Amino acid sequence: MNHTKASAEENPFEAMHARFDLAAGKLGLEPGLYQILRTPDREITVAIPVVMDDGSIQVFTGYRVQHSLARGPAKGGIRYAPNVEIDEVRALAAWMTWKCAVVNVPFGGGKGGIICDPQKLTKGELEKITRRYVARIMDIVGPDRDIPAPDMGTDGQIMAWFMDTYSVHQGKFLPSVVTGKPISLGGSLGRIEATGRGVMICVREALKHLAMKAEHCTAAVQGSGNVGLISALQLASIGVKIVAISDIAGGIYNQKGLDLATISAHLAKTKRLEGLDCGETITNAQLLELPVDILVPAATENVITSRNAQNIKARIIAEGANGPCTAGADKILDQKGIFVVPDILANAGGVTVSYFEWVQNRMAFFWTQKEVEDRMEHIMCESFNAVVDMARRFSVSNRIAAYMLGIDRVATVTRMRGIYG
Ligand code: GLU
Repeated sequence: MNHTKASAEENPFEAMHARFDLAAGKLGLEPGLYQILRTPDREITVAIPVVMDDGSIQVFTGYRVQHSLARGPAKGGIRYAPNVEIDEVRALAAWMTWKCAVVNVPFGGGKGGIICDPQKLTKGELEKITRRYVARIMDIVGPDRDIPAPDMGTDGQIMAWFMDTYSVHQGKFLPSVVTGKPISLGGSLGRIEATGRGVMICVREALKHLAMKAEHCTAAVQGSGNVGLISALQLASIGVKIVAISDIAGGIYNQKGLDLATISAHLAKTKRLEGLDCGETITNAQLLELPVDILVPAATENVITSRNAQNIKARIIAEGANGPCTAGADKILDQKGIFVVPDILANAGGVTVSYFEWVQNRMAFFWTQKEVEDRMEHIMCESFNAVVDMARRFSVSNRIAAYMLGIDRVATVTRMRGIYG
């Protein structure tokens, strides 16, 4: 998988700006607002000194970017990865702003990251890094300021430490400072499955739109983490045949369909696909170019670029990851007539249920799984239809339509609030 972000095409912040500029142009956004919405509201870099298990001291770098606070507190995950860069965090924060606006949940957008390799850290070291990071960003987060969540390399346990550190410092129980918590600590039912389920709902709606039948379709899923594996399981539940799946090391392909129960059990045990004997071994690059109906890139950024977009054979791409296609790839995918469900819609099920978790924490009243799923279903379908309708009315791609919908909602409240100062 691609971990270098050297070229301009692969700089995620530039990729975000390229689409922002197109959408802002179509909306006829006034120059002042264009400048405001293009620039992150606030960004901080913090040093995180930690005493490692061997007694040595290491100083990690952490970021938190709040792209927009116009529609509500900032919202967005925290990523732990060795290749985190500030431009990536900026892009991810802006994508959260547009994503929250597309699904119309009352949040702005933010994102955080720590440069570290969670695979190489012990549980104790991870806990120390997390707690010190929280202490460093304490003043800018909070239930009404900025509400983090899991992202790549982070999970419910890390959110539990986050919530605990914040609550201890504030002197009160404040679970709504963070979402994606374990259920017993105020997490919401349905949050773990939410992103993958949202991907499935978007694919199901796309199939309806294109008059295709799930049971006649095959899918390849890149990634087998929380988003990839659950997207695969969810798609299988509506009748789609999953023929390929991958992790960071590579993928497996079986034209006859993969045995997802065996794969899930193996992943639960080993966290990797290695050792499975249920198909042919392929690379992540090959997975993307398989002759399938549905492609779900659910791993990381920049996997579909101007270099390989021409070789994509899928009819539908549903972006489980944030930023898997570059702006250069967009043009080629459009020319090929591929129906792309863009990240800020396709993976918005996660933040939608994060919003439900925040609401339930503030009410201290919890919903059933069915209530969560029904509410999410409604929001995802409404958002899908709003994007497709926008694309039709303005003759633009689904991606630019989603940006237009999001940007317009943020621009509207920014105009109402006015410019202070
Ligand atoms: N990290 C997820 C995303 O990129 C979830 C964010 C959230 O729930 O706040 O959408």
